[in-house]
Amino acid sequence: MRWSQYYLFTTREVPADAEVVSHQLMVRAGMIRKVAAGIYSYLPFGWRSIAKLMAIVRRELDAKGACELVMPAISPAELWQESGRWSKYGKELLRIKDRHGRDFVFGPTHEEVVTDIVRHDVKSYRQLPFNLYQIQTKFRDEIRPRFGLMRGREFLMKDAYSFDADDAGLDVAYRAMHDAYCAIFAACGLEYTVVEADTGAIGGSASHEFMVLAETGESEVVRCPGCGYSANVEKASSGALPPPERDGEPGPMREVATPGMTTVDEVAEFLGVPTAAMVKTLIYDNEKEEPVAVLVRGDRAVNEIKLANLLDVQYPVLASDEKVAALTGAPVGFAGPVGLPPGLRVIADESVRDLAGFACGANKADAHLVDVVWGRDVEVGEWADLLLARGGDPCPSDGCGGILEPFRGIEVGHIFKLGDKYSRAMGCTFLDENGREQPMIMGCYGLGIGRTVAAAIEQNHDDDGIIWPLPLAPFSVLLIALNPQEESVRRAADELYDALRQHGVEVFYDDRPERPGVKFKDADLIGIPLRLVVGKKSLAEGKVELSRRRDRQRQPVAVADAVERVMALLGD
Ligand code: ATP
Ligand code: MG
Repeated sequence: MRWSQYYLFTTREVPADAEVVSHQLMVRAGMIRKVAAGIYSYLPFGWRSIAKLMAIVRRELDAKGACELVMPAISPAELWQESGRWSKYGKELLRIKDRHGRDFVFGPTHEEVVTDIVRHDVKSYRQLPFNLYQIQTKFRDEIRPRFGLMRGREFLMKDAYSFDADDAGLDVAYRAMHDAYCAIFAACGLEYTVVEADTGAIGGSASHEFMVLAETGESEVVRCPGCGYSANVEKASSGALPPPERDGEPGPMREVATPGMTTVDEVAEFLGVPTAAMVKTLIYDNEKEEPVAVLVRGDRAVNEIKLANLLDVQYPVLASDEKVAALTGAPVGFAGPVGLPPGLRVIADESVRDLAGFACGANKADAHLVDVVWGRDVEVGEWADLLLARGGDPCPSDGCGGILEPFRGIEVGHIFKLGDKYSRAMGCTFLDENGREQPMIMGCYGLGIGRTVAAAIEQNHDDDGIIWPLPLAPFSVLLIALNPQEESVRRAADELYDALRQHGVEVFYDDRPERPGVKFKDADLIGIPLRLVVGKKSLAEGKVELSRRRDRQRQPVAVADAVERVMALLGD
């Protein structure tokens, strides 16, 4: 491709909304153009990289026997009502009406549509198993679209769905997809890790995320260097937290006046105890309007995703001030487990179990209780793991004894064991060997196409621009003609261009009549892995200059050897 004829216009300007480097560089390198918040056009140079990734994805999924199909972006509300997600999905689900006033969905994921296809075609265990995948446009009305392709509203996803007769079959399908994902991310040259994950709105029993390690990643992950346990903090557990030290046995429970002290820090300081020796009582409400009181150690936070899963609700939110006052008899800041109304469900996080003689709100304005003892002063009927894990916590694996380390990652892939969640709800069944009707056992497997390309840039760049890993590079070689108006330069560069193309090399030829400084700056920005420079001076000695974008070490090579040297470097 000759740049003089190509649609690629770079810019020095960093868009104001581009917070992360991959977004800045994708815009500056002419890869994408914003159309609306979270909605982008893929420009030719960007689309080439996307196409490279899609080819790798197809190759690895096909190798596992998965079959590609394409489902529509838009599907009727009835399918979503059948699965129950019409009411459960929330505001991310873009709902639209046709001219007859019928409801439709712009698919954020395709479990419903694929299950509908399969239930029509498949009736017998003999037709199982199989795996269907597509690469297709999704829409999610994200509350905060940002970071360019990383969190768009409209985005490309590879989604695959496996159908098996039983759990053992699902295990095999899940493992195959796990391995395919490892092969894909390795083939892209990405540094990634696999972590345990929450199953979220998709549902199901087990799930793993593929994380590309990056400082700017939106996902927080903890990992144990000892046993290798690693999980998204949305899902992660911690081992039992060591209780804070205390002097002597707790005395009898007493009430202490704490006028105007509504935060754990204020009260702890006033009482002269560590925040870890307090019990925080949070009143949560949700869309079912069934409030609960959650007890957690004073220095820690509740994992609201664990709470949502436990309560089987979408949105646990802290209750309004009025509701807290009505339920506890005290203003916000003074709730505690002792003397809550009997009708209120109370759930204690395991982090408070080992506290001996803790402090907590007294359910009374301007008062706290101290030296409260489980069993003696108060009982809790329900214990659960609701803790938001963090780095420094003990590893939850039995007998490991390691300490969790925090890191950040970009979630590029997410695989789930769905089980019979959708097949049961939607009647996607088959007859087993004994002629009995059974729901199919499903898995689903997502991979963000644009997000993976963005993550690759996040991991591979320097101050001057992108440094493409070869497998995702829009072109392999950038051929630069310095001063192409010089006849000898232009002729030599044209010949090299033709020769490289004849050897099947994807070469981008900068034949523009721009100054050398502009060409080199652009070359650094667009980040093509190999660079071949034809200039008048070296050409006079029969040479051109070859360099890698990664280290920019220039090597003179004889014009006659240039193609061979390029081929050798590409083969490395
Ligand atoms: P997140 O937690 O980042 O919102 P998710 O858990 O909602 O992701 P999945 O439903 O598992 O994502 O979707 C599968 C894959 O699709 C993700 O691993 C990610 O790579 C990609 N993806 C999800 N949401 C977006 C988005 N808004 N923009 C771009 N890619 C996305
Ligand atoms: Mg999401």
